[in-house]
Amino acid sequence: MKRGIATIIGRPNSGKSTLLNALVGQKISIVSDKPQTTRNRILGIISDSRGQIVFADTPGIHKPGYRMNERMQRAVRNALSDIDLVLLVVDGSVAFGAGEAFTLDIVKKSLLKAFLLINKIDKFSKPLLLPIIQRYANEYDFCQIIPISALKSENISLVIDKIFQYLPDGDLIFDPGQYTDRNERFLAGEFIREKILAKTREELPYACAVLITQFDESKREKKKLVHIEADILVERETQQGIILGAGGLRIRDIGTRARRDVEEMLGCRVYLGLRVRTARDWRNNDSILDELEVGT
Ligand code: GDP
Ligand code: MG
Repeated sequence: MKRGIATIIGRPNSGKSTLLNALVGQKISIVSDKPQTTRNRILGIISDSRGQIVFADTPGIHKPGYRMNERMQRAVRNALSDIDLVLLVVDGSVAFGAGEAFTLDIVKKSLLKAFLLINKIDKFSKPLLLPIIQRYANEYDFCQIIPISALKSENISLVIDKIFQYLPDGDLIFDPGQYTDRNERFLAGEFIREKILAKTREELPYACAVLITQFDESKREKKKLVHIEADILVERETQQGIILGAGGLRIRDIGTRARRDVEEMLGCRVYLGLRVRTARDWRNNDSILDELEVGT
């Protein structure tokens, strides 16, 4: 059996989480058009007759500022040790700049086997591919360079086929039925955060966190109902009002959308209670960051 770990790295917004979901065929990593959406390392697992690939999605690579960002970068560093393959995701629709150079440098220094995945090919015309390929191929000896669309699932099965060719033989790492290392409670919090990110702008997405305070499965078997309560943390009082929206409309909308995703994941009905509270400077608070599993 072939098996191994492939770490997905790339600039914020290049499409790493979208790619992970496409590879696994399940929603496990949340997606938004705002950088810094992914705060944790999330594993996605696929198993078939050929063996098992464990994918690690990582927070985008950027320079530390808050304690939270330091811990996010720790997750990136951890994800780069003990791995068999790097998948460098680049957004083919944006020009090569300092951020791309920074990320490419990390791959070069790692000396690991790496694939270059040029993402978002649904968004730009084919002739633009060649200069990108040349640019990267000049700098590193990539095992494979594959244009993909994570969003439209283009070339995803090709990527999987190629990865299997580069993995060592060995025993499976995870149970073949398992598709992520994160539990439902964690994912529920993330799905809520995804809806907040979609509905807010400017500094608010970064100032928000979701803490699951109750995840009651006692009625899951008999009544097909899971009762979930969550606190949405913000950094200032004024931000509470933004999350609530006029007449509480925004939070109701966030709740409805998040509940649908959580119900789909759990395969049963969900009661979702949301509360907004201010936790000043939570991004520098290690005990909150621990609870949110940031940097793990
Ligand atoms: P990450 O920060 O690298 O994890 O990026 P995300 O997966 O969160 O994606 C960032 C944004 O790019 C989201 O708005 C995605 O919908 C979008 N995106 C990701 N992959 C593609 C793609 O293949 N094509 C297009 N058009 N958009 C994509
Ligand atoms: Mg992400």
